[in-house]
Formats: sequence, C-alpha cells, structure tokens
Amino acid sequence: MGIFIRKGQADQPDRVLANTVVYVCSSGNCNGWMREEFATDDLKCPLCGHDTVQEIRELPQIIDS
Ligand SMILES: [Zn+2]
Repeated sequence: MGIFIRKGQADQPDRVLANTVVYVCSSGNCNGWMREEFATDDLKCPLCGHDTVQEIRELPQIIDS
C-alpha cells in the first residue's frame, strides 16, 4: 500500500555505527566516558578522575576525510 518501513535504518544514512571500545566512569553519579583512542593515559575519568570500566558501545564511526 505504498508504505515503506525502512527497517533498522538510521535517519542519517551516512552515519555508520561501529562497535567501539569506550571507557565508562565507574562512579554512579558521573556520566563521563571516553573513546579508547581519546582515552587518558591513566584511564581515569576525564570529568571526575574516577576509575573507568572498558565497554563496547555502538557509536557513530569517525571517518577521516
Ligand atoms: Zn567520572
């Protein structure tokens, strides 16, 4: 009936999600996290200095242009 459902597609088609290693702050009241490639040397939270925990998240891929 002319209704197309774009299954599983994001609104921005040129954004590709990639499984990305991130370090997430282990402090319960802090939302700090960082990508592995931008992580601090000591892997402490850039916001509060707490320890971070490694996680895999789906994030928009950074494409070098
Ligand atoms: Zn933190």
